[in-house]
Amino acid sequence: MKKDIRYIYFDIDDTILDHKSAERAGLQDTHDNLEFLQPIPLQELWDVYHSNNKKLWKDYGAGRIDREFLEHSRFAWTLRDLGIETSNTTKMRQTYMQYYEDHWEWIPGAKEAMAVLSKQYSVGFLTNGFAEVQQKKAEKFGLFDLTENYIISENVGFMKPMPGIFEYATRMAEVQPEEILYVGDSFISDIEGGSAFGWKTAWFTNSQETSQTKKATITFDDFDLLVRAVDRNSES
Ligand SMILES: [Mg+2]
Repeated sequence: MKKDIRYIYFDIDDTILDHKSAERAGLQDTHDNLEFLQPIPLQELWDVYHSNNKKLWKDYGAGRIDREFLEHSRFAWTLRDLGIETSNTTKMRQTYMQYYEDHWEWIPGAKEAMAVLSKQYSVGFLTNGFAEVQQKKAEKFGLFDLTENYIISENVGFMKPMPGIFEYATRMAEVQPEEILYVGDSFISDIEGGSAFGWKTAWFTNSQETSQTKKATITFDDFDLLVRAVDRNSES
């Protein structure tokens, strides 16, 4: 017998809030406001930062480095690779974090869909990231009004897709794993991670790659579609 959905967890970054655009706009403002970055073309700055950031997050996720090393090195390595004095690291880090925060916005349709779904289901949030940054997002967008289950990897000690964080979130939801639907954008962290723990998954993607899409219970590229798909999934 197929179990109905009783609980919906949402990922935060690039699922309900537009992290990628905020990151890009934050870096652009940082570039435009710090004199030592201005000789560097924006695209080059973006490419170098992005490649360092990605590598460092991977190491952080695997427990090879700590948070302070990640936060410092993503700027220090970027400056080093661009031939800029790394004594500017702290200035760049602080400037970027402020601008990044200024550009946080909803993904279109996510707020409305959550308003509908949170009337029908218990909801929670499950995010990788730094505790106080993700906490600020919850405050700014009123997410604590919807739930007490706002789960941040840094507080739990495991990052998605590690089973430990899904196990913790399942306990907090007080339902069976197969009664949870996880809405997220990352195939590896959210869809593979959630389904490996027995959760249903809703993948926010444009991907047509059937070897991947068939792993998700639902795929959607528009939040109206998610609301309708959740309804159908609960009728069966
Ligand atoms: Mg995400």
